[in-house]
Amino acid sequence: MKNLKLVAARSDFSRSVIDVQGVKFGQDFVVIAGPCSVETETQTIETAIAVKKAGAQMLRGGAFKPRTSPYAFQGLGLKGLKILDKAKKETGLPIVTEVVDTRDVSWVGEYADVLQIGARNMQNFSLLREVGKSGKPILLKRGMYSTLEEWLNCAEYILAEGNPNVILCERGIRTFETYTRNTLDLSMVPAVHKETHLPILVDPSHGTGILSMIEPMSLAALIAGANGLEIEVHIDPPSALSDKDQQLTVGQFERLMRKLEMTRAFMQSLDNLDEIMASGELELSGTKRSASAEATRVEGELKTFADAVD
Ligand code: PEP
Ligand code: MN
Repeated sequence: MKNLKLVAARSDFSRSVIDVQGVKFGQDFVVIAGPCSVETETQTIETAIAVKKAGAQMLRGGAFKPRTSPYAFQGLGLKGLKILDKAKKETGLPIVTEVVDTRDVSWVGEYADVLQIGARNMQNFSLLREVGKSGKPILLKRGMYSTLEEWLNCAEYILAEGNPNVILCERGIRTFETYTRNTLDLSMVPAVHKETHLPILVDPSHGTGILSMIEPMSLAALIAGANGLEIEVHIDPPSALSDKDQQLTVGQFERLMRKLEMTRAFMQSLDNLDEIMASGELELSGTKRSASAEATRVEGELKTFADAVD
């Protein structure tokens, strides 16, 4: 890809790790969760406590909402940021929140640990320059009509201002398909890993807009190699002031986190697969055993178990 001087994959294949108060994007699998919008102190703090308990490492919540209609809820602004600050003090979770205007970058940055650039502002070049100058970690969402090359050039704008702390986020694009809110393009995960050293998250909430699709797409994102997820969770989705149809309940989020954990353990077991295939041996509790003998043994045990259940 042309003109990607700072963002392009490095010749030694090393990857950027962006450390936000101990949360390491590009190294750990990071789940950012929280409401679409900050609505009230109770709603935000209760959600924050619940997502933290379920294992989320960061809290999201919009105080400035870029809405399709000028009459829709636009967010609480400064009041919302103060609520996020309280939620952070309560839970210790660092905050991700969107900034929509160049004039707000410095003071929103006093509350946010990560500044989010939303899909609608991905190519707002003055905003990109401003957040670049801020030096804050930036979550750069993919524009809904943007190619990978356009997206990575937007990251380049931020890095070119001297800010290397950019995390990308795939959130779906507009296609001819109208069944889903957007078409979640999971093929971007390996593509981003091929073309750049920056970490990539996936947002299955805006990416699908359909509650029942969030869990399978989250698991698929993990398997595709995403560095984390950004997911909308609300203590009472039907009462939400924005995106009420796509926000997970706390129970749904807890279940998803458990499935992610199990899938990660499975993925880690695959890390050793090359070695097992080459040596024909696998290491179990510190002892090397023949992989095929182990497979026969496990198969035998399963058959005994099945016979007993019958
Ligand atoms: C959001 O994450 O709050 C949001 C508005 O998402 P997007 O910019 O991807 O539409
Ligand atoms: Mn939303």
